[in-house]
Amino acid sequence: MSDNNSDRNAAQSGDAPPAAPPRAAGPGPETVIRPEVLAMRAYQVADSSGMVKLDAMENPYRLPTELRQALGERLAEVAINRYPVPSYAQLRCALRAGFGVPDGYDVVVGNGSDELIAMLTLVTARPGAVVLSPWPSFVMYEMGARLAGSRFVGVPLRADFTLDAAAMLAAIRAERPALVFIAYPNNPTGNCYETAAIEAIIAAAPGLVVIDEAYQPFALDTWMDRLPEFPNLAVLRTVSKLGMAGLRIGYLSAAAPWLAELEKVRPPYNIGALNEAGAIFALEHLEVFEAQAAALRAARGALARDLSAMPGIEVFPSRANFLLIRVADGPATAAGLRERGVLVRDVGKMHPLLGNCLRLTVSDERENAALLAALRDTQRALGA
Ligand SMILES: *Cc1c(COP(=O)(O)O)cnc(C)c1O
Repeated sequence: MSDNNSDRNAAQSGDAPPAAPPRAAGPGPETVIRPEVLAMRAYQVADSSGMVKLDAMENPYRLPTELRQALGERLAEVAINRYPVPSYAQLRCALRAGFGVPDGYDVVVGNGSDELIAMLTLVTARPGAVVLSPWPSFVMYEMGARLAGSRFVGVPLRADFTLDAAAMLAAIRAERPALVFIAYPNNPTGNCYETAAIEAIIAAAPGLVVIDEAYQPFALDTWMDRLPEFPNLAVLRTVSKLGMAGLRIGYLSAAAPWLAELEKVRPPYNIGALNEAGAIFALEHLEVFEAQAAALRAARGALARDLSAMPGIEVFPSRANFLLIRVADGPATAAGLRERGVLVRDVGKMHPLLGNCLRLTVSDERENAALLAALRDTQRALGA
């Protein structure tokens, strides 16, 4: 999935809103729904059918045909009349083995890492609790905090999107956050922050520091193996960006006492049996996904070079499977690309630091070429 709450609330593409039935007399939602929910807006996603979809950091590659057939056979064996085994022991074992979870450490599984973010904000939402993150970053940190009733504090990045370590440490001293989220690499800026700054943050934090490694397959850098050094560090991961976004599986590792508290609020059957079986199957073929990630890392370099060579485009360095670019007119460029069949994410309104920035998923050769052609065409039409 992509970065933002509005995406999460999206209606299926192409859905037309049903005609409103006549309203019966009596209490409506505004009498009982929390004001912060009433104030939110569910976002309608544009129909993406037939579009080159570069707005959600999906892996463009599917499984090879033989593996898809084998997956079908595996799924046919799943007893869907039964609830899943609520410990998800087999899935947890496959995740630990496949993704380098340190010896003696376990994982909590979530229905996507989104669900784990919601669980983290829920368990820490004591009265007056603060959730803190460098900002701009993944919108779900703020959403989760707000829905749990905690206060969210975003500490602005520097103009070049590096971490303002002094500002982070000052904010930690002043706010005493229960939870600090650090996206590594950050979404939507694509960079990883300096190791020493993160170490200082973990040391200063009075609560849990969650390093969100959603893009780890493209960064090839991790804090996972450093878990034993820090009692208040958690590493959050997802299989979504690696090529299993449809399975909705996230996992979090930390010292056992943290996991025990999270297990108390995890819905017992939070991952469907078909999704669990699909993920276990996929993890038996992890090398296929790793090769796809390697192809995307190579494509990222090529795409960055091609974009940099175009006039009027600034490309920011990225360690994720997307590129952040700045153009002269972000909204007009996004609209021009859409007219030419290419969907990207206009992040220009997310934060003042992101003015006229667009976020582009790195895809396969054909889709990257389509993006470049549509962008050239758009620039010509805009007289750039
Ligand atoms: C995409 C993304 C996620 C969400 O992943 P899911 O497991 O699909 O819910 C989490 N964190 C960041 C920073 C992301 O960009």
